[in-house]
Amino acid sequence: MDSKKFDHFRKKLMEKKEELFQTVSKTEQYGREADEDSTQDIADKAANSYTKEFLFSQSSNERFILQLVNEALARVEKGTFGYCISCENEIQQKRLEAVPWTRHCISCQEMQEQGLLEE
Ligand SMILES: [Zn+2]
Repeated sequence: MDSKKFDHFRKKLMEKKEELFQTVSKTEQYGREADEDSTQDIADKAANSYTKEFLFSQSSNERFILQLVNEALARVEKGTFGYCISCENEIQQKRLEAVPWTRHCISCQEMQEQGLLEE
């Protein structure tokens, strides 16, 4: 991969990182505000804790992607970005465009989803 492409993906990853970071911190702030609101009755509180649980499950997924994005950025710096971390083959360009933080090529990804691949 040439440096132009590295720059392209670095930019994409940085944008995604910023976006995820915003969402994750917003969720955390919402959680704190809901806790501090003492005017709620019991029904409100129940609804709130449900919403919170939902938001936190959302945000743990986002946190996970954020971690993948950080790892991908580290691979850009090392110059190994764009290669499958498992079989070391080049990852399809189309796949990188869609999911630039992906760690695996499509065939390793499929194996991983079936539980056939060691991390
Ligand atoms: Zn692979």
